Amino acid sequence: MADLRVERIAEFIEPLRVQPGSRVRLARDFDPGYKADFLNKKDGRELLAAGVELLADYQRRLAAQNTYGVLVCLQALDAGGKDGTIRHVMSGVNPQGVKVSGFKVPSAEELDHDYLWRYACRLPSRGDIGIFNRSHYEEVLVVRVHPEHLQRQQLPDSARQGHVWARRFREINDWERYLSDNGFKVVKLFLNLSKEEQRTRFLRRIDRPDRNWKFSAADARERRYWDDYQRAFSKMLSATSTEWAPWYVIPADRKWFARIAAAAVLAHTLIEIDPQYPTVSEERRSDLLVARSELEAEAPEGAPADPYAAAAAEKKRRKKKRRKK
Ligand code: AMP
Ligand code: MG
Repeated sequence: MADLRVERIAEFIEPLRVQPGSRVRLARDFDPGYKADFLNKKDGRELLAAGVELLADYQRRLAAQNTYGVLVCLQALDAGGKDGTIRHVMSGVNPQGVKVSGFKVPSAEELDHDYLWRYACRLPSRGDIGIFNRSHYEEVLVVRVHPEHLQRQQLPDSARQGHVWARRFREINDWERYLSDNGFKVVKLFLNLSKEEQRTRFLRRIDRPDRNWKFSAADARERRYWDDYQRAFSKMLSATSTEWAPWYVIPADRKWFARIAAAAVLAHTLIEIDPQYPTVSEERRSDLLVARSELEAEAPEGAPADPYAAAAAEKKRRKKKRRKK
């Protein structure tokens, strides 16, 4: 049963994976409106609920084992659905085990460091799932589309000249390989929205007062750079989808489908890690049994030595009596 589930998840996400080494052209290779044929919105709801439960179970084991960590990087254009994806996909997971970090225009302090510094500061610990709402990939996206950001990074001339982006791609790949070698799996999700769906979502943000806060004139201005972003995304996907940290392009025009797909990729990663609850050694086990009899001996006058065991025995007794009647 478990194996069947594992296989189906792997099959489901395969078309979304960017083959390492392939040359991506977003508009040609990935359809923002894609959904798997066998799914509709109604079944999707059940599937997401099952996925969320599965994630919660794996996250508990990940935390207990305390060996691996998972970093989820979410990238999208404005209105791509990053916030909603985080809210829905992580809804069943213990908040203690998840750290969400958002990245905006860098502060003066951040600009005073190397460009990966602020992301390194927010990496998850072992046992945790870290979510980057925007990530180090902004350093080859917004910074590439708007070169004035690069000017502000106080780089030495040697780092501004020549093949800046090829160098950054290599540095990012190396960094992720280092993380992966050391037990931190990097899951990269690009929520791929169509230009028309972005227009529709912007209109809703303008029309609904409770969504106004999500929209600024700057977002509309950024939309003018749509083609530049598509190119930058295509180059990023081509250069940084690696065996150790592949990109997944999540079709984002249908929110419900995007959430299932994101949950499936994360589930796939956790299943591959297959974290286990630690087992205790024989020696620790006998220590535990000594502690147990000490606790039992502390029972106050009239109280059962082990209240749990007493309650369970009582329950069993009542059940038996009922059956006899
Ligand atoms: P939001 O996610 O809507 O709050 O917007 C955050 C803004 O910060 C976006 O416009 C990003 O493009 C911008 N941003 C994020 N990272 C960087 C970066 N490294 N350099 C410049 N701008 C950035
Ligand atoms: Mg925004």
